[in-house]
Amino acid sequence: MFSRILIANRGEIALRVIRTCKRMGIETVVVYSTADRDAVYLRLADRAICIGPPAPRDSYLNINSIIAAAEIADVEAIHPGYGFLSENAHFADVCRSCKIVFIGPPTSAIENLGDKIRAKEIAQKAGVPTVPGSEGGLENEDAALAIAEKIGYPVILKAAAGGGGRGMRVAHNPMSLRSSFAQARAEAESAFKDGTLYLEKFIESMRHVEVQILGDEHGTVLHLGERDCTVQRRNQKLIEESPCTVIDKRTRFDIQTAAVKLMKAAGYTNAGTVEFIYDRKDRKFYFMEVNTRLQVEHPVTEMVTGLDLVEEQLRVASGEALRYRQKDILRRLEAGGHSFECRINAEDPSRKFAPAPGTLSLYCPPAGSDVRMDSHVYSGYTVPPFYDSMLGKLIVHGKDRPDAIRRMRNALDELVMEGIATTLSVHREIFGHAKFVSGSYDTSFAASELGL
Ligand code: ADP
Ligand code: ADP
Ligand code: MG
Repeated sequence: MFSRILIANRGEIALRVIRTCKRMGIETVVVYSTADRDAVYLRLADRAICIGPPAPRDSYLNINSIIAAAEIADVEAIHPGYGFLSENAHFADVCRSCKIVFIGPPTSAIENLGDKIRAKEIAQKAGVPTVPGSEGGLENEDAALAIAEKIGYPVILKAAAGGGGRGMRVAHNPMSLRSSFAQARAEAESAFKDGTLYLEKFIESMRHVEVQILGDEHGTVLHLGERDCTVQRRNQKLIEESPCTVIDKRTRFDIQTAAVKLMKAAGYTNAGTVEFIYDRKDRKFYFMEVNTRLQVEHPVTEMVTGLDLVEEQLRVASGEALRYRQKDILRRLEAGGHSFECRINAEDPSRKFAPAPGTLSLYCPPAGSDVRMDSHVYSGYTVPPFYDSMLGKLIVHGKDRPDAIRRMRNALDELVMEGIATTLSVHREIFGHAKFVSGSYDTSFAASELGL
């Protein structure tokens, strides 16, 4: 096992990784920008190295500074967290050429799966169903129109290099597709530096179902069950849960098996997630994309499996074989109960969720058995305006979905965050909403039921 690693991230996920490392006796080195001087994770790490000014491109995205810090501190491996450089194949490559282990999948898997068009091709070759749409990228808007004509409207335009729920546009007719095309391309170019677009059928009533994968360097690929992330605002996840309670046993088995098959075909190792669309109308599932990193919502999987995913990542990256067989995991899942996660952001729901950085005058986290608050904030903490607006994740575990809902309601009631606008009220509303409680809804829930 490693004796010292560097965490190339900040905030909540930096703390999350430190906690596991401490338990495993691994020293941690963290990096920070001048905007994060007062962050808690600096105090809990064994060493903290300033890597530059606030702007992400000068600090958390600055590969040279991060590698320099890793060499100065003499670490054996780098954990990229999520966001920032976590899905950057070039960064993984630079780490490896400097003889530093990148805690993540092989560079080739990041490259192949990070391109959503190539990932779809890999899925098709592996026999995993995909949504009807363009084969490869779209040359121009005429090509888009021709394919839309063939598969029928509505369609969705997506960026091949997209992520974070950005750059997607739905078109209900040729006119809107024509007008969306140039905008989508420009958006993709500015956000992802790659204007390649593809198109697929827009599934009008869907559930977002994703499968957690773990692979080792000895040829084993396991799934850790699925998560349902259907409660979204503008294609961004608000609430996640495990298991998904709207699919039958057979579909669950098929989705899990498809995910493993795909990741084996991609030569995957370490933690990753295969995302699927579950079409509520025809009860079929389709591959959507792969995230080649630890995901924000990984704690719900930890709650229902009892595993520590960061520990598994570290073990796999150091060359160990996975200590479980699929049937051990299935047994854990069967007795795993139900878990929810709420992402609580410094955003103002009354101002279209505009980021609301500022000073959190009071913070009182909830507690109790089966309640977990993963957060880097404290009373008096000032949320800097430069980064992701997530303040923390509230996670609960119950014996089944109704029990977990009751626990989440209590925890949300206990949680106090004052001084800045947050999305806490939205979560309280959702956990009190009859339709959410019934479990019968699709990805349009937040927009259609709550007007978000
Ligand atoms: P990102 O890389 O930004 O996460 P995804 O491809 O994972 O993008 O899609 C994010 C969300 O967008 C999905 O969870 C879903 O709500 C919506 N979405 C994506 N593709 C489709 C589709 N074909 N039909 C309907 N909704 C879709
Ligand atoms: P996931 O697919 O894992 O659910 P997202 O699609 O929202 O999550 O992508 C991960 C997001 O995490 C990125 O959009 C990035 O802005 C955000 N992020 C990166 N670093 C951090 C951090 N330290 N704390 C909170 N959020 C972060
Ligand atoms: Mg996604």
